[in-house]
Amino acid sequence: MNLADRLAAHPEIAIFGCITWAFLIVWILSMVHWTIQAEIDTGFGIIAIIFGVGLGFLVFNPPAGNEFISPLITLMVVGSVILFLPLRSIINQHELVAIDMDAIDRAYRQLEERPNNVGARFKIAKLIYGRGLHGHAIKLADDALQNMPQDFFAEEHKMVDSWKRAGHDEATFRALSCVECGASNPPGELYCKKCGAKFLLDQAKGKWIGRAMVKKLMAVWVAMLGVFVGIPVSAVALPPIAAAIAICGLATLIMLTLYSAFLGGRASGNA
Ligand SMILES: [Zn+2]
Repeated sequence: MNLADRLAAHPEIAIFGCITWAFLIVWILSMVHWTIQAEIDTGFGIIAIIFGVGLGFLVFNPPAGNEFISPLITLMVVGSVILFLPLRSIINQHELVAIDMDAIDRAYRQLEERPNNVGARFKIAKLIYGRGLHGHAIKLADDALQNMPQDFFAEEHKMVDSWKRAGHDEATFRALSCVECGASNPPGELYCKKCGAKFLLDQAKGKWIGRAMVKKLMAVWVAMLGVFVGIPVSAVALPPIAAAIAICGLATLIMLTLYSAFLGGRASGNA
C-alpha cells in the first residue's frame, strides 16, 4: 500500500504527522543552533537530529496494523519539545548566574583583603548591574569612582555614564532587604548595615529552579518515553533481532539516565 492509500484508510495519520513535523522542525533547528554554538556535543546533536528525522518518517509510515504508533510519536515529540526547550534555557541561565555569583564572591574576598580596592568594588557594581540591580550598581560604582581621576579610570567612568543615560526604573534604587536578618539596605552598601552579610550576593542570585531538579525532571521524562513509547514502538516497528537490540539499548539508556540524574551527580554538588 502506498502512502496515499494508507492516508485514505487512516486519515488521522496525516494530522499526527503534520503536528509532529511542526514540532520536529523546532527540535531540529534548536539542535543545529546548539551544536553550532557548541552548547551541546556535536555527536549528541547529530544523534538527536537523526532520531528526530527517524520519528518524522515513522509517524507517516507506521507498520501496517500498528497505526497506534503515530499518536504515540506525536505525544513524544510534542512533549519533548515543550519540556526540553524551556528547561534548556533554564539550565543556560543557571550556568550564567553561577558564573556571575562566583565572580561577585571573588570580588568580595578581594575587598576583605583590601577594603579600598576600587577595581573589586567596580566589579561588583558591574555584575549586579547585569543581574538587574541597576540602582544599587550605579550608586556603588559612583562611590567607588568618586575620587578617581577621569583619565585613569576612563573606561569605568564611561560605563557608569552609559548606565545613567539608559534611564532606570526608580524601583531599582529602593533599599534591598538582607536575606540573613531582614534589615533594609540603601544603594551604595556592600554589606548589610545590621549583620554584615554580603546581601548583594543573595539579592543577585534571585530565584531559579535548581539545576539538579531540572536534571531529574528531564531524566524522568526520558525514562517515561523509553518505557511507554520507545520500547513498544521498537517491538512492533523493527524485525525481531533488531527489536531485541533496540529494547536492550533503550533499557540501558533509561538506567544510565536515571542513575546519573538521581545518584551520579552527588560529587559535583547539586546547587
Ligand atoms: Zn543583615
